[in-house]
Amino acid sequence: MRWRSKLGAPVGNPLAERCQERVRDLRLPPGEKLTIGELCAYVGTLRQRQVHIATLALPSAGPHGLWVSTDTLDYIFAEERLVPVHQQQVILHEIGHVVCDHDTSPVMTGDASRLLMPSLDPALVRRVMGREHGDSEAELEAELVGSLIGGLISTWNVHPTWTVPPEAREIAERLSSLESPVARDSA
Ligand SMILES: [Zn+2]
Repeated sequence: MRWRSKLGAPVGNPLAERCQERVRDLRLPPGEKLTIGELCAYVGTLRQRQVHIATLALPSAGPHGLWVSTDTLDYIFAEERLVPVHQQQVILHEIGHVVCDHDTSPVMTGDASRLLMPSLDPALVRRVMGREHGDSEAELEAELVGSLIGGLISTWNVHPTWTVPPEAREIAERLSSLESPVARDSA
């Protein structure tokens, strides 16, 4: 029998090893693979904070995915116009941030921050983390944890429908209303 690392991290890469450990610590149920919706429910149970996924039209200048954390819940918003496989990657990346419990301070910079942050009620939202193509350690960690989890869950259910739960409608409407900030400004 040949030993093979299940998650295949390069030896001697501390970030990769840490990510593997995080994923191992999730102890995803063996056997039938979870769908991404079931994964969120599972992570929510572990954290004792529900994780809701919702897809919506996000501002085109902003990130494709957002993790919005309120006092009681976590929301993962993903761009609804992405092809399913890309959408799943975006959601997994955000789940990576959730699993790693990344810093509570907003990390968005530049256009995404200017577009989104001023419109979000700070009393309602504790943190917003957007998917950016940055190379900060948190981004790399989220990306790697997300892809490791992606290898362990089912890709069968690639066309789920995620609707915005009633309690997240206010946030979602604010996000969606930023869809054409330039047009709105010049109106
Ligand atoms: Zn990210």
